[in-house]
Amino acid sequence: MNERELTLTYNPKGARKAVFLDVDDTLYDHLAPLRGALVDVLGLPASFPFDKAYHLFRYYSDSLSDREGLSAAPDKEKMEVMRKRRFMLMLADLGVHVDEGQAGRLQASYLKGQFAITPFEGATRLIRELGEAGFLVGVITNGPGSHQRRKIDALAVKTWIPETHMFISGDIGYSKPDPRLFAHVNGQTGTSAENSVYIGDSWRNDVVGSVDAGWTSIWFNHRGAEPESAHKPHYIVSSYAEISGILLGQRRPGGKNAYKRFSGL
Ligand SMILES: [Mg+2]
Repeated sequence: MNERELTLTYNPKGARKAVFLDVDDTLYDHLAPLRGALVDVLGLPASFPFDKAYHLFRYYSDSLSDREGLSAAPDKEKMEVMRKRRFMLMLADLGVHVDEGQAGRLQASYLKGQFAITPFEGATRLIRELGEAGFLVGVITNGPGSHQRRKIDALAVKTWIPETHMFISGDIGYSKPDPRLFAHVNGQTGTSAENSVYIGDSWRNDVVGSVDAGWTSIWFNHRGAEPESAHKPHYIVSSYAEISGILLGQRRPGGKNAYKRFSGL
């Protein structure tokens, strides 16, 4: 066990340990509502490359939002344009051409699906067990306040995550990967970077943001993505069982050192 792991052990006499999670595609399967919209509106077959579509969709969503500064300061009209554009660009890359009307219907169907979501297997249990073990648990998510809050509501994690531990970029004015957002979270919760862990699926938002902020970074790489920079997350995992093992010390059967440690790019 190295020093970093030791600092994660809950110590009631020391500073409070904190674990914050990303929401989209970390707490729940973000591909499900996208797949639903593509099937419902366009009737795309099961053979359609939905995984690829998802990566492209996120890419265009992030890059168009960055260009317009929408994560930190959501503008309703620009947001609507971005939401349709990302469908059109993503589908065009996959050889499917849709007009603005179809893109609007895709967005409406996708939006509906986003509020009918359930947490990934093991997510609720991890959050509950972290709380019981004395960790402060919260979420940090990019997007407009009301929109992200509706999703958090749909995930029914309020029992374990109080409102004061939910941080939404649109409400705060900083968005991931800006380290100021992570510093803001530490300031508001009375925690410190050294004692804080962040879990997220996005390299550019979650890994880059938490590493730059000096937090312990767990990359939830459940879709087999590639690193996008020289940043080094402390752990790379693909399931909640692995996260539980790291944070709560439950080892996988058969395994001393069963968890894959990040060993450089
Ligand atoms: Mg995410």
